[in-house]
Amino acid sequence: TAGDKIGEIEFRQVSFKYPGASDYILRDISFTASKGETVAIIGSTGSGKSTLLNLIPRFMEATDGEILVDGLNVKDYKLEALRDKIGYVSQKAVMFSGSVSSNVTLGEESKQSVEQSNIQRAVEIAQGKDFIEKMDQQYDATISQGGTNLSGGQKQRLSIARAIYKNPEIYLYDDSFSALDYKTDRVLRSKLKEEINDATNIIVAQRIGTIKDADRILVLDKGEVVGMGTHDEL
Ligand code: ATP
Repeated sequence: TAGDKIGEIEFRQVSFKYPGASDYILRDISFTASKGETVAIIGSTGSGKSTLLNLIPRFMEATDGEILVDGLNVKDYKLEALRDKIGYVSQKAVMFSGSVSSNVTLGEESKQSVEQSNIQRAVEIAQGKDFIEKMDQQYDATISQGGTNLSGGQKQRLSIARAIYKNPEIYLYDDSFSALDYKTDRVLRSKLKEEINDATNIIVAQRIGTIKDADRILVLDKGEVVGMGTHDEL
């Protein structure tokens, strides 16, 4: 039944090339991430990791094959309904000029329905509590356009908090832990596992530590899967 597939992501022989280009960027990719699982994608620069992630919320459309989310082809969703299910954390953390809270809620913080405790919970899981609470105005502190008054790791933590606040079924992390020191990376991932254990995660990463605990690791090379297994198997 469809209920069994909630939170599931499945790639069925997916290929991608840019419209008009001759070379494929991704070729014949098949894998499944079940509800609650973490699948890590590794591979050298340019191997197609970001492209693979981008196909799921349909930032780009697969050329061949099918991508299923909750058992339904992503092409058959209204874009908004598909993206509502997904928390996407981009490679480069995007910050807006406004308060910490508005950066986490994407401007919804003035709505009645917004619970301050949900913002704080998201920031806490994302390991941002300490640095936010050190700022004079804390959650009301101003972040400048592009987050120029924050460090790279602070921006990454806030953009992860933004995804957590959204409370999606699926998290897509595009190299989203790269600017964190090892300890913060480790603590943050264990908190994610503890607090958000029913979400499905796809993590693109460079650092072995970040992906060691993944249920499955997919090794990409020039757009093809050249290895799949757990860290111990590979
Ligand atoms: P990195 O680790 O450096 O982020 P990646 O594995 O995420 O790399 P992608 O960003 O998915 O790799 O890029 C895959 C391939 O697609 C690369 O060869 C890249 O040059 C190519 N590519 C990316 N964007 C475009 C574009 N807009 N037009 C044509 N080719 C592109």
